[in-house]
Amino acid sequence: MEASIRAEVRERAGNACEYCRLHQDDSPLAVLHIEHIIPKIYGGSDELDNLALAGIDCNLHKGTNLTGIDPQTNAVTQLFHPRRDKWEDHFNWQGISLIGKTAIGRLRSVCWL
Ligand SMILES: [Zn+2]
Repeated sequence: MEASIRAEVRERAGNACEYCRLHQDDSPLAVLHIEHIIPKIYGGSDELDNLALAGIDCNLHKGTNLTGIDPQTNAVTQLFHPRRDKWEDHFNWQGISLIGKTAIGRLRSVCWL
């Protein structure tokens, strides 16, 4: 991946994880990764729209998953998609806890933490 693409992804994300909003300055020991929102094994591209900046925890826990089970309804639910979904609609930080406001947000609580 070209350095210019990496720089553009990082700048668009405000140098923060697009899944939990952890800023790079608050993660001095781990560089935020460029990840594929739709994994390449499912046909995801290297285009800018399919790339997101992610902390190591979010990236590793998301892995190649596209969906999860909403713990409240047991419904199969798509994971948060940084290009399609608005973060504020699905998540809210309460102190040190990331709270899911929707099924998509609740998946983050179950799948990531
Ligand atoms: Zn994160």
